[in-house]
This record gives sequence, C-alpha cells and structure tokens, in this order.
Amino acid sequence: MKIVVGHLYPDYLNIYADRGNIAVLERRAAWRGIDFDYRTIGLGEPVRAGEHDLYYVGGGQDREQALIAPDLVSKGEVLREEVAQGAAFLAVCGGYQLLGRFYRNRSGAELPGIGLLPHHTIAGERRMIGDVLLECEVEPGDRRTLAGFENHAGRTYLDEGAAPLGRVLAGFGNNGDDGFEGSRVGGAIGTYLHGPLLPRNPWLADWLIAKALARRLGETPELDELPDDFESSAQLVSAERARARGGRF
Ligand code: GLN
Repeated sequence: MKIVVGHLYPDYLNIYADRGNIAVLERRAAWRGIDFDYRTIGLGEPVRAGEHDLYYVGGGQDREQALIAPDLVSKGEVLREEVAQGAAFLAVCGGYQLLGRFYRNRSGAELPGIGLLPHHTIAGERRMIGDVLLECEVEPGDRRTLAGFENHAGRTYLDEGAAPLGRVLAGFGNNGDDGFEGSRVGGAIGTYLHGPLLPRNPWLADWLIAKALARRLGETPELDELPDDFESSAQLVSAERARARGGRF
C-alpha cells in the first residue's frame, strides 16, 4: 500500500512548522506499513491529474501568498477536479485562505483564490491570535475535538450552508464571530489551526490518510489503531490551555 503526497509551495508557505504535519503523516503511514511517497509541487510545476492522493498547503504571510496566488490559480481547475475525484487535501492558514474564492488584504487589494472551498476572506484590523479548541463531526456521529493555535488577520466567511471543520469551543475560529472554524468539502479540509496541527490531533492525520488510501484503492481501509499516549497528552495540554485562555484580541 502507498499514498502519494503533493506538498504545494513548501518554499513559500511554510511558516507554521508545516513540516511537522508532513512528518506525522509520514510516520503514521510508516507505522502501518504504508509507503509515503512525498513530492513537492513548486511554482510553475504542473499538477498532473491522478498523480497524488493527498495534497498539502501550509501557511504564509500576505507577501508569500501574493507570490504564489497566480500560479495556484493556474492549477485551480485540476486541483478542484482532484478533490471531486476523491483526493484528500489539507490547507492551513494562508493556504486555506487561497483555497476559497478570494482574500482581500488590508489595503483592499484582492488575491484570487481557486474556489475549491466555499468561502472568502477579508483582512481585519486586529490579528486573531491564541489557542483554539474545536468540536468536530467530520464523520457523522463521530464527535472529536481538535486543539491548535491560530494567528491570522483575515476573517473567513463560509457560504450559507457550507460545512465548517468544527465549532469553536475556545478561541476565534474563522472570523471571531459566527462560531465556525475551517471549511470542509469531500476529502478537503481548510483550517486556521497550526502549531503544527497534526501532532496533537492524530485522528485528523488518520482521517486524511484513510481518504488518501480510499482514493488510491477505491475503498475505505480500516487503519490499525496506534497507541497515541503522547499525542493524547499533547492534545489535553493544548485543550486545557485553550479553555483557560482561548484567543484574545
Ligand atoms: N493573510 C494571512 C492573515 O490573515 C496570513 C495567514 C497566515 O498564514 N499567517 O494573517
């Protein structure tokens, strides 16, 4: 068994320990005997339909976002089609913003997004910074918590009826207002949470691995359980911090 992972723009969007997310995916796949074929996709490099099972894009500031936005737009159609065909996708922070329709910065200039996720983002006055705790139900009936850290000026607004990644129990989330965090379509997830995200939320790493395998094999596999003692402790510490402090302006 194997999964092929495409990491978009690792040279530009990488400010939130994004390698940590990739390391977790790689380890959790390896522990189960799944080959992890990691590839990078940079500026000007084409995305070939059907080549990857899981895409990843990390966070970056406005400047880096502006540098890659036109290139990402040129890949938009194939990426949307990949997700429609079952590919998994994790997008964090600046990458998350560009998976929506647009990001409008503080001076009013708009960066185009690729409309893979149903939202848009408008930069606000103050940054939303702090620990976050979410309640998620990514699979119906299976409630999970997700703990992380956010740091963004953009306020993201989901389209009416669009699925968030979760509901905010502590922190700001998409915009500090409507109680939603992240966005989700099929196997694609966008979120402001980093820290990095996956080391303390291994259930989400496994969900992504399962989606990626399902795309490759044509059926959803049962993944072996892993002990996860350290991971659970990390999540508890992070969740407690979010409950105690949350995000604050
Ligand atoms: N444009 C972003 C913001 O809202 C960048 C997000 C990020 O990755 N820090 O601040």
